[in-house]
Amino acid sequence: MIHLILFGPPGSGKGTQAEKLVDHYGLTHISTGDLFRYEMSNDTPLGQKAKEYMAAGELVPDEVTIGMLRNKVNSVPATKGFIFDGFPRTVAQAEALDKFLAEKGEEITGLVALDVHEEEIVKRILLRGKTSGRPDDNDESIIRNRIDVYKSETTPVSDHYHRIGKSHTVQGIGSLDEIFQRLTGVIDSLID
Ligand code: AMP
Repeated sequence: MIHLILFGPPGSGKGTQAEKLVDHYGLTHISTGDLFRYEMSNDTPLGQKAKEYMAAGELVPDEVTIGMLRNKVNSVPATKGFIFDGFPRTVAQAEALDKFLAEKGEEITGLVALDVHEEEIVKRILLRGKTSGRPDDNDESIIRNRIDVYKSETTPVSDHYHRIGKSHTVQGIGSLDEIFQRLTGVIDSLID
């Protein structure tokens, strides 16, 4: 099976590219941010737990996030593999994912990061905020906090996979199609 981590800062285009990649490779898309927003919109206990963290641009605690991810993966009956988007966001989540996949006789195929500089992502998120309806996309100080959290908590995840030769980066600036071509170039080389 193919298990890809689509990596990069908030606003780097992971969600958009993940949609195109799942169509292209026939994989299942799992976005932990989307899962949390779904739980919140249904006001479930999980949604209630996540709400304050998301509003502040902080990470939802690992045990909550990892539990939700495991349930989601286990609920998918048959698939060629997964594209993880917005997960793992901490080294503890990465280690839990590796262990969880190993229990199934599986492993991460590769992590592919979208490289986009900070001022561009702030601009993109504020633009997205006009239509996304996401409160965390509409306040520049919360956006900056999400970027700070990404730098301190999440970038070590790419180092974790780099150490085992599984971390790759593509330029995340350009047209949707250009970026998609760069991603499929890397992914094709991983699965051939
Ligand atoms: P996203 O849609 O990926 O930008 O995620 C929106 C928010 O959901 C983040 O700012 C976090 O509060 C929360 N979130 C999403 N994924 C995770 C994760 N893997 N670990 C912790 N919190 C997460």
